[in-house]
Amino acid sequence: MTDSRPLPELLWEISSQGRSKPHLPRHSAGDGAGPPVDLLRDSAPNLPEVSELEVVRHFTRLSQANFAIDTHFYPLGSCTMKYNPKVNERAASASGFIRHHPLEPEELSQGSLELMWRLQDLLERISGFRRVSLQPAAGAQGELSGVLMIRRYHADRGDGGRTKMLIPDSAHGTNPASVAMAGFDAVQIPSDQDGNADLEAVKAACGDDVAGIMITNPNTLGLFEAHIREIIDVVHECGGLVYGDGANLNAILGVLRPADLDIDVMHFNLHKTFSTPHGGGGPGAGPVGAGPRLADYLPGPIVVSGEKDDGYRFEMPAQSIGRVKSFHGNFGVLVRAFTYILMHGGEGLRAIAENAVLNANYLRARLAESLPTAYRRSCMHEFVTSGKIGEVETMDVAKRLLDYGYHAPTVYFPLIVKDALMIEPTEGETRETLDAFADALIAIVAEAGENPDVLHEAPHALPIRRLDEVKAARELVLCYRPS
Ligand SMILES: *Cc1c(COP(=O)(O)O)cnc(C)c1O
Repeated sequence: MTDSRPLPELLWEISSQGRSKPHLPRHSAGDGAGPPVDLLRDSAPNLPEVSELEVVRHFTRLSQANFAIDTHFYPLGSCTMKYNPKVNERAASASGFIRHHPLEPEELSQGSLELMWRLQDLLERISGFRRVSLQPAAGAQGELSGVLMIRRYHADRGDGGRTKMLIPDSAHGTNPASVAMAGFDAVQIPSDQDGNADLEAVKAACGDDVAGIMITNPNTLGLFEAHIREIIDVVHECGGLVYGDGANLNAILGVLRPADLDIDVMHFNLHKTFSTPHGGGGPGAGPVGAGPRLADYLPGPIVVSGEKDDGYRFEMPAQSIGRVKSFHGNFGVLVRAFTYILMHGGEGLRAIAENAVLNANYLRARLAESLPTAYRRSCMHEFVTSGKIGEVETMDVAKRLLDYGYHAPTVYFPLIVKDALMIEPTEGETRETLDAFADALIAIVAEAGENPDVLHEAPHALPIRRLDEVKAARELVLCYRPS
């Protein structure tokens, strides 16, 4: 074990009766200004009785019991857990932004509108799309927006018989979910022996009942879709449109513009590619970009720049599917992404992709003997291996990595690789970190042969061992419950 920090036992209940009394500030509104008497509670709330110092220690201790990008290598495949530069936080907490209310009129919002307009413009240039809407709050919501745009496009042409959406079997689960929510039937496209979406299967599935395809490139196996151009042409030839799942943009940033592949609509995951903290579920941002066929259908409003010095204002695209989010998207995430893009510049963005791919291939090569990948190809920004080693399961390997001081990779996804262990190092890691992580995994594979029980019982060095994950998800305790 290299970096296991034994933590003091985690105490949850530190309240002690009679220790403290809350001191509420006097209100200055005068008597009778409060809520009606019948709304007043008749017993005191059951609050924990703790001192401020104990509260600070409690939460600081809890925060240290977790793994974070700022403390640990975090190769969680598919999630792009890259470093979130602190300058992003400074920009997002500028008082002009955080004090600005989304209901303020456009004339008083010109700074925020300009930032949105510039971000739309940068994303258009990075992706090649004609227009970008910043509305969706996450990748999944961007997907739903794009699929609704495709549905509206066909409906407007009187082409109502297109009910099917093709989705490769390597896709993220959000793809079929978005398709179902939009009222289409998902048709699964198998992968070929090299891990690509099977071109022949796409050809066979195409017809005048196909609304389009949702395709991720590079795909969730971390592989560049070798037949992407032909697949897009085949779908267009049969009258369908192409949704690009842009969650893996980090691998091609500054190298390939998705719109140049003739993709019709795509979401960006600003929180992945453009660095916003997103462990624990958000907030994120999933802007959508669209090419000529779908640009008018984008959700809105979108920021446009007036003639001469008219300033910036909101506008609904001509055939817009409407709003998908209250107000103007997750604005704080937009500020962070904007800051990140400006800080890197064009060359810097390209370097991100190159280094993300280099780091993943370096790790893949270092692990080639211990944990070979399912497909014998060089990878893009991530790769998938199997964590099943003799009597040891993928989950055991993941848990054992925690003892070595690493956040676990993604496990059991994508579904088409049995016992998948999916590793995405991101661009920001040093060779020393990658080597240390590879050494840890190689050591764990050796342990799996020599002493599998060490893995079955892992983690050993953390205050909490194995959670009941189903219970943790279903019976989430989100607020204080007095014992
Ligand atoms: C992360 C991801 C999504 C979903 O994005 P969210 O922002 O989490 O909603 C969709 N597709 C792929 C391939 C992803 O990796």
